[in-house]
Amino acid sequence: MKALKQKIEVFAKEAGMDVLGFAPKERFEGLEARRNPFTVFPEGETVIMLGKRVCRGSLRGVEEGSNFGDYACFGRNWLEDEFLALACYDLTRVLEDEGWEACPLFPNPTEAPAMGVAVTPGKEAPNVYPDFTYAAVAAGVAEVAYSGMVFSKEFGPRQRFHMVITDAKLPATPLLEQSVCDRCMQCADSCPYGAISKTEQNQVNIAGKVMTVGKLDEGKCRACKNGALPNRLHAKGQPDRMAALCNRTCICHLEEERLIGNVFENPFRTSEPWVR
Ligand code: SF4
Ligand code: SF4
Repeated sequence: MKALKQKIEVFAKEAGMDVLGFAPKERFEGLEARRNPFTVFPEGETVIMLGKRVCRGSLRGVEEGSNFGDYACFGRNWLEDEFLALACYDLTRVLEDEGWEACPLFPNPTEAPAMGVAVTPGKEAPNVYPDFTYAAVAAGVAEVAYSGMVFSKEFGPRQRFHMVITDAKLPATPLLEQSVCDRCMQCADSCPYGAISKTEQNQVNIAGKVMTVGKLDEGKCRACKNGALPNRLHAKGQPDRMAALCNRTCICHLEEERLIGNVFENPFRTSEPWVR
């Protein structure tokens, strides 16, 4: 299996993937069926998480307040629907050429209710949409930051994921040990609506990794006009805060303090941010 893992790693590099992690089945034990990837493929053994960066430049127009559409294309819709989808599908070909089934999954919102009835008693009603936040942490490539955003070591919150479940038992990626988020609270301070609490927090435990996350008033984020967007796939899904003021402020902080690997010659923010 080590050789297969190496083959996947080489493929990922050539396919321009920025993040890659392997989560063994046991890290999902106890996770409710509707959020669990192995409800979709019970004979699976490993979840592979593939990530591509949201390039910093795709957030430029939002930071300036002059262009919102290109983030929605390059940072979200095309990134998920085209660039990542192609890489994810091509990874299934690598695995299936080696005789292992590979089930590709799109990051549909876990919050979406079932869209049908169970095909037989004892099975979950379709569609089951696994929890990508849980899986990214379980695959050792991410943590949940204080803001509730999913952070990697290299890009902080700037990436999106697709998933492949396979029946190949691949060596696990260790859980991320060191925290990227330093709990500076700038995300909370920058939010004009006070949607991220500085005093009320939740302890999130994923596969034994415990993270402190600020309580978030999602209703405020759904109405936020500071770069946030509604969930494009389901009204009940989490709003997209990638380009929101809170997250752009966080990105500035992570870069300034060199808390992430992908830093730049010039600062992201050079003047007071616009606020509505
Ligand atoms: S702004 Fe600070 S506290 Fe908030 S998520 Fe970013 S690093 Fe963590
Ligand atoms: S999306 Fe808007 S309302 Fe929600 S935390 Fe960020 S800035 Fe505040």
